[in-house]
Amino acid sequence: MRLFVVAFLSLANLFSTLSAQITDPKATEFWEPQVRVVTPGEGTKPPSDALVLFDGSNFSAWQSAKDSSNVTWTLNGDGSATVRPSAGDIVTKKAFGDCQLHIEFRTPSVVKGESQGRGNSGIFLQNRYEIQVLDCYENRTYSNGQTASVYKQSLPLVNACRKPGEWQTYDILYTAPRFNNDGILIAPARVTVIHNGVVAQLNTEIKGPTEYIGLPNYKAHGKSGIKLQDHGDLVSYRNIWIREL
Ligand code: MG
Repeated sequence: MRLFVVAFLSLANLFSTLSAQITDPKATEFWEPQVRVVTPGEGTKPPSDALVLFDGSNFSAWQSAKDSSNVTWTLNGDGSATVRPSAGDIVTKKAFGDCQLHIEFRTPSVVKGESQGRGNSGIFLQNRYEIQVLDCYENRTYSNGQTASVYKQSLPLVNACRKPGEWQTYDILYTAPRFNNDGILIAPARVTVIHNGVVAQLNTEIKGPTEYIGLPNYKAHGKSGIKLQDHGDLVSYRNIWIREL
């Protein structure tokens, strides 16, 4: 232990000596590689390097999650689409890992049901990890199942829900889990969720695939689609774009 402390102190001394010897501010500037230019979005326009997953015109980037058939959710003709109850979940044809996802959703203006039965849908990252979509405006449910929760795992820091019938935004920053060649988890997935401009999840560790009953348990997987849930409620979506990181 003593030897370790001595070694640590000598190393610390060495670094502070080296640091003291640098007198030219240019010595700590990096000019390569150069940083790629992205034109930022404006209004509903996404950043220039984003992949648009849904702009309201069609479901060409999506398919039915259960049988890969064409999506039959309702296109509203105003840039949005609405869950068609019993049509089932939909998933992107393209698979993703680490990403920045922007998505806008609206729960029904006609409020019916309570707790989990009010404006329920969800966004499954990598087809497995659900960020809950729910109408939690003056609607109590279990805290780790409310809007912007990592469903049944992590409650959001705040409830930033807008009123039913109003458009809301999620900006999601997602780091996929890492597995080694033997399929053993070496780093869990992590997620930051900004709900209507307010941080609801900050670098939250995801404990495994979303389970309705029981505890989550990781199984190795690669890139996978983004899935939107049909929970039987008339939740609408618009302006969905993604940036792979
Ligand atoms: Mg849900």
